[in-house]
Amino acid sequence: MRAITNAETIKPVQLRILIVEDNDINRTILAKRLTLDGHIVVNTTNGQEGLDMVESDRDFDCVLMDIQMPLLNGYEATERIRGLEQKEKEPHLRLSHKLNGRIPIFAVSASLFEVQREEMYNLGIDGWILKPIDFKRLRVILKGVTDLTQRKKDVYQPGCSWEAGGWLNMSDHDVTADR
Ligand SMILES: [Mg+2]
Repeated sequence: MRAITNAETIKPVQLRILIVEDNDINRTILAKRLTLDGHIVVNTTNGQEGLDMVESDRDFDCVLMDIQMPLLNGYEATERIRGLEQKEKEPHLRLSHKLNGRIPIFAVSASLFEVQREEMYNLGIDGWILKPIDFKRLRVILKGVTDLTQRKKDVYQPGCSWEAGGWLNMSDHDVTADR
């Protein structure tokens, strides 16, 4: 691993991350990279498993959601997770949820298109990451889970590099945190 040589180097804040990915190789590599960055990772292998996990354990800072999966695909699982959240009596346990207004969910896929972004957002997705994953870039995007200044830099805007991934929107909560 490279040495930390200056203050500009992004030192990841430890997050608890749920991976929902049916491909063994993709999941293993992603989990390994995130673990090396100091994150705590929980793995699930399809949308139904991911949903069940969130149902029993809401304590994740974000979800990395593959889209093409058996049983429930990533979009269906996301919609169901949002449904769970709406029934919640005491929401927003973690800073990451408070800042985003809900648990941040990233769509992770090789086929996500810029024209879909509104549809994705309306389904409950907060950000997008294209495969093959650029792990350096993923680290930057994940910093935005707890750092709204960083998030602002990675929010979608027309003309941005879609391939780089990012957040689809600032959360409704950014006003208070806009310091
Ligand atoms: Mg898949």
